Parts: sequence; structure tokens; C-alpha cells
Amino acid sequence: MPTPGAGLKVRSMTIGILALQGAVQDHERVFARLGASCRQVRTIADLDGLSGIILPGGESTVMSMYLREYALDDAIRACVAGGMPIFGFCAGAILLCSEVDGPGGRVPGALSLIEARATRNAYGRQNASFEEELETNLGPFPGIFIRAPRLEPLGSSKIVGRRRPEHGGEAVFLRQGKVLAASFHPELSGDDRIHRLFVELCAPA
Ligand code: GLN
Repeated sequence: MPTPGAGLKVRSMTIGILALQGAVQDHERVFARLGASCRQVRTIADLDGLSGIILPGGESTVMSMYLREYALDDAIRACVAGGMPIFGFCAGAILLCSEVDGPGGRVPGALSLIEARATRNAYGRQNASFEEELETNLGPFPGIFIRAPRLEPLGSSKIVGRRRPEHGGEAVFLRQGKVLAASFHPELSGDDRIHRLFVELCAPA
């Protein structure tokens, strides 16, 4: 049970959701359930005073193009360097990785905030979407994958969630300090534990 004090902290925080492209509203609904306010982020000014920021699923190539066009890439990197937590889901996770496998080989990631390699659309076209139970540090978690990338930790990122051994056991949820990346979509699962973890990370000490 959250204490009343913790509730007050949650109510006073604003979580930004990058809203250049992609599935913004599903995250807004989860944060509303948890009592945290959200702000859609489209410009550098929208980053002002945020407690944390979400990079939603969508299309990573389109999002990275807009990030550069609006100079949000440098601005977001500066916020994270200043201690702001960030969480990327699926395409958003791709934007965070230091290496991305693309048709031309490995390229530096758009934001490069977590030491990890993303391989886009790694689970094939036919079988691009699937659901299965995952093993995470929070316990079993319903995994919903939509044209998901494969995520591999490099350097000091840690695995906090993976597929079950019978499904290959690969990483699906990584963390390096206050940077989190998940290849699946907890916002569609009805299970709010992963968003709650992020809210706790964003709460002022
Ligand atoms: N396939 C998309 C990409 O590479 C990600 C899909 C998603 O975010 N659901 O950007």
C-alpha cells in the first residue's frame, strides 16, 4: 500500500511522453491510474520541470528523424545527464540503445543512453506480434510484443526481464541506472507494475 506521503509526491510529479509519433495515449491511461500527471512532449520547452520521460512505441526511424529536426535529442540527453529517468518501449527502446542493427549494418542509436544493441523487427514479419509470460525482477509479467526489436545488453546495462528459457531466454527489459528499455508493451497489458516502478524512480527523494 502506498503511504499518503508517497501519494502526494506522485500527484506533484509530471511525466513527459514523447508525442512526435506513436502510441502515446496508452501510457497516459496507465499513469492516470497511478495518479501521476502527464505532459505530451513535442518541443524543448515541454521538457521543463518533468520528473521523467517516456519514449513510446511507434516507428523508430520516424521518431529519430523528428527528434533531430526539433533538436529534442540533445535536449533529452541533457535532461538525462542531469538525473532525469527515461523509459523507452519498443521503438522507444531502439532510440535509447547505443547500437542499432539496420540494413546497412550497425549504426549509433539516436539517443545512445543505454549500452545495448537493438536489432529491429527481430522476430520476423509473419510472426511479428505475440504474447507470452516473461520472467522479470518484478515477477512473472505478461509480455505483449508488436514488431519488437531484440535487445542485447552491452557494457554496464543489466537484464531485468527476459523470455522464459523455453522461448529462448533472451533479454527483453534492460536497465542502466535511471535509463530503462523494454522491447514489449506493458501499457497494453493492464498490469501497471512496470509503470509504477518508473513512477517510484521519478519520485523526488
Ligand atoms: N518495428 C518498430 C521499429 O522498428 C517498433 C514497433 C513498436 O514500437 N511496436 O521502430
